[in-house]
Amino acid sequence: MTAYSADGHEEIRALAARVAEEVYAPMAEDLDVHRRPLPVQERRRLGELGFLGIAHPERYGGSGAPLAEALAVIEEFAKQCRPAAFQVFEANTGPAQVIGHLGTEEQRERWLPGIISGEKTMAVAISEPDAGSAATDMRTLAKPVDGGYLLEGTKRWISNGGEADQYLVYARLSDAPGAKGIGALVVEKGMAGLSFGQQERLMGFRGIPSADVIFDGVFVPEENVVVPAGDFGKLFTVFSIERLGNATMSLAIGQAALDRTIAYVQEREQFGKPLIEFQSVQVTLADMLLQVEAARLLIQRAAAAAGTGLPDPLQVSLAKCTANEMAKRVSDLAMQLHGGNGYTEEYGIERLHRDAHGWAIAGGTPTMQRIRIVSELLGRRFDQRA
Ligand SMILES: Cc1cc2nc3c(=O)[nH]c(=O)nc-3n(C[C@H](O)[C@H](O)[C@H](O)COP(=O)(O)OP(=O)(O)OC[C@H]3O[C@@H](n4cnc5c(N)ncnc54)[C@H](O)[C@@H]3O)c2cc1C
Repeated sequence: MTAYSADGHEEIRALAARVAEEVYAPMAEDLDVHRRPLPVQERRRLGELGFLGIAHPERYGGSGAPLAEALAVIEEFAKQCRPAAFQVFEANTGPAQVIGHLGTEEQRERWLPGIISGEKTMAVAISEPDAGSAATDMRTLAKPVDGGYLLEGTKRWISNGGEADQYLVYARLSDAPGAKGIGALVVEKGMAGLSFGQQERLMGFRGIPSADVIFDGVFVPEENVVVPAGDFGKLFTVFSIERLGNATMSLAIGQAALDRTIAYVQEREQFGKPLIEFQSVQVTLADMLLQVEAARLLIQRAAAAAGTGLPDPLQVSLAKCTANEMAKRVSDLAMQLHGGNGYTEEYGIERLHRDAHGWAIAGGTPTMQRIRIVSELLGRRFDQRA
């Protein structure tokens, strides 16, 4: 529904929509049913087409465009095929942004071109079995040794876990308690002591692998430290970009559910007339549009304010919370209006609904976003442990 999407990025949005529909939509169901990730050659194709470096500087092979442009592309891919959109999301709004904003020039030159071309992928590993919402309770330890660190610990729910070539790992780099001891370093596939758990069997996200990432005395050289201990606050400021990418995945799910429902209720007839002729169906459709548009405007506002820089955390949490909850509700209403057909795999509505739940947990739950919203609003921290 491009009529609702006027954000100044119509040209690249139209290109992304066409590629997504022609190339990636036909493989979406198969990737979901067989729980297969996007084939590597398809990721490279996304790189060749320039979709993986939109929000990265030109000197590393990117386009140097504003974040909003990358979000427009993520949305168009995610409407058709979330495993393909995930690659665009991860490259443009994921850990590569931490490298771009907080890494050294040498690190940017080492890692960004490969990610932008689609040759390599980088996943982010924060969560642990006993540290989810309470991320600063993490225990993964990077012990200083000659020339680098020895890494011990387990990360959980890592999207692209096992598939990604590199992992931006948040870990304790010093003995300082809580957030103060946490920094981040890059672990590369193939390093001795790195292994992966079994692929998780998630409700949704089925074309996006998820696994534990296990570090058993992995030696990480000093030059792979991106953020030293004590700069956790900076890490989470940059993580706002990922949260906007996440919100956009939810927006796409809501918009796709709405678009399909608009078509369906005009075709499907009951009691001798199209469903759209019933007033309660009109009201439900209006409710869906209200929610999608509210999420869209909050995302657009946060992205527009960010430009090519960092978004405002309050605007991001407002957008993520709204979009995540909208996607769950709107895809649920879409399923309701599709009747039995909505409950089949064939129509793709149940897939939208399953994926909506995943995006709402990943990147911090709506409850945690609400806590963040009030914290930012009042300019004070609420100690969850007190
Ligand atoms: C599909 C998917 C993809 C993911 N991808 C990644 C990834 O790539 N990298 C990564 O590091 N992690 C990833 N995660 C992990 C994700 O970040 C965590 O699952 C999330 O932060 C919640 O943590 P948890 O699952 O441990 O739940 P918990 O923290 O145990 O929370 C359980 C419930 O308690 C509520 N709760 C917790 N604390 C409070 C509080 N103080 N006040 C009120 N309510 C509270 C939560 O809102 C939630 O409803 C992913 C998760 C999913 C589902």
